[in-house]
Amino acid sequence: MSRVIENFLAVRAELESACRQCGRSVDDVKLLVVSKTIPIPVMMELYEFGVREFAENREPELAVKAAAMPDDIVWHFIGPVQSNKIRKVVKLAQIIHSVESKSQLERFERIAGEENKSPQILLEINVSGEASKGGMTPEELPEVADCAAKCRNVRFSGLMTMAPFEANEEELHSIFDRLRILNEQTGKACQMDLPILSMGMSGDFQVAVACGSTVVRVGSKIFEGIERISR
Ligand SMILES: *Cc1c(COP(=O)(O)O)cnc(C)c1O
Repeated sequence: MSRVIENFLAVRAELESACRQCGRSVDDVKLLVVSKTIPIPVMMELYEFGVREFAENREPELAVKAAAMPDDIVWHFIGPVQSNKIRKVVKLAQIIHSVESKSQLERFERIAGEENKSPQILLEINVSGEASKGGMTPEELPEVADCAAKCRNVRFSGLMTMAPFEANEEELHSIFDRLRILNEQTGKACQMDLPILSMGMSGDFQVAVACGSTVVRVGSKIFEGIERISR
């Protein structure tokens, strides 16, 4: 078995164990493969193994990979989006995790309409208030969510966050709990189902699962020991 498949199976086993420990069903948590900087042949090994969803954080790399790889792949976009890239991202990605402001949301909504697309979108929340992280503050969320709930082209589906790299377990718990509660409050306020809570990465997905994550975005742990594309 190849290195990447071994790693993938090991991460999946860790995810299953994390689910078991908090009494959740593994079917309720998606293991999303973050393939940024990973060469296409390595991704194709995962594809052959049955993986059909990948996440990228830069539009040019997404465009190259989407053109070269099979059509039945569902592409997730998880990176910061510059306004001049929105159209390209809308054409390629079915789920966008990183909508950061009301003005950006309005652009996505307009362009999705023009392109006749209906991507799912998540609002990215900067729960910890770290200056280097993207996303809106929890205080900005109600107004943006209200706008998202009224969108007819993009489909508002939940919230996403990234925890600070250096957070300890207690801090991670409080950040991920906070996002879950914000998602529940937002769903109630907008009277809609928000099924996606995108939180947890290689270093913290166990805690995120305990706090209710429904999508963990894992890159480095799956691609440990794999040579990356330099960029
Ligand atoms: C790179 C990235 C991930 C994956 O992080 P790893 O620590 O490599 O698992 C998850 N989410 C976002 C937004 C990323 O940019």
